[in-house]
Amino acid sequence: MFCLFALPVFSQRGPTAVARSGEGAHALLRRNGLPDTRHFQQFLTLNQGRLTAKGGLIAGRTYRLPARGKASQAAATPARHPAGSSAAALHAPVFGSKYSRVRVLDRSMRGAVYYLSPGHGGPDPGAVGKYGPHRLAEDEYAYDVTLRLARRLMEHGATVYMLVQDPNDGIRDEQFLKIDRDEVTYPRQRIPLNQLARLRQRITQANKLHARHKGAYQRLLALHVDSRSQGQKIDVFFYHHANSTAGARTARNIHRVFTNRYARSQPNRPYSGNVLPRSSLYEVRNSHAPAVFMELGNIHNTRDQPRFLLPDNRQALANWIYEGLRADYKGR
Ligand SMILES: [Zn+2]
Repeated sequence: MFCLFALPVFSQRGPTAVARSGEGAHALLRRNGLPDTRHFQQFLTLNQGRLTAKGGLIAGRTYRLPARGKASQAAATPARHPAGSSAAALHAPVFGSKYSRVRVLDRSMRGAVYYLSPGHGGPDPGAVGKYGPHRLAEDEYAYDVTLRLARRLMEHGATVYMLVQDPNDGIRDEQFLKIDRDEVTYPRQRIPLNQLARLRQRITQANKLHARHKGAYQRLLALHVDSRSQGQKIDVFFYHHANSTAGARTARNIHRVFTNRYARSQPNRPYSGNVLPRSSLYEVRNSHAPAVFMELGNIHNTRDQPRFLLPDNRQALANWIYEGLRADYKGR
């Protein structure tokens, strides 16, 4: 089924304002005592999918407002809110009913903007592996890890755009993820089958958003589960543009976390993943935000498969990527 729901990656309960005729975001924010660039960034985040293609407002429409200075100061301290409090909780239907409520634990990633691009999707399942009677589609596993990463980032105040969204598959705690074709490109564009058209569609979208967040720290991450010959076990690989120092640094920061974590969890097996320039990759080459393209393993390899099949492992991958991104943002 192809759905035409608007799927903002998250929304937040809180103050709202109705746009007046001819009013832009800056004017609306000023009128509501929210004049800073920071407010503007937050406004864009809160109203994803609700602005016009050029970032304009629609008169008469209700928009969510960022919290005022005082409130956001309070939220900026790593507060432990009592259960049931929604003071620092986001509502993100894209994560599915079980995970849609996202508690903001701290704002350490505030100001960072991420474009998350899970590989393939829509009519293209990507590589398809086999596990007993089950078929494992790359796009479903990449999507699940990417959602988990998005949620982590949001827990720490980052702005996150899921460039691919599935209207009815949130984060899934199953081993075998059903293969479907109803994913859409943000905000709700049908995904073409042609590879170039598919990549162009999401990068065009990401670059449009990139212009809106001008001046902010922005990164694009593409997550794949590669397909190699069956016998080949591969560790996680990171690619960046040869000319992008920022992309290379982000890749190395994530790689460093993986190297440390592997050393701890599997001391007898050296980690052989690597960071390499690969400027020929479409997303790496055309993204305005510095990009990192990751291959999480070989979907055909029986020893790699548990890395994606077990939901806890998918969460661990997301956590490690998050840790690398956090280190990168802190060291910017
Ligand atoms: Zn792929």
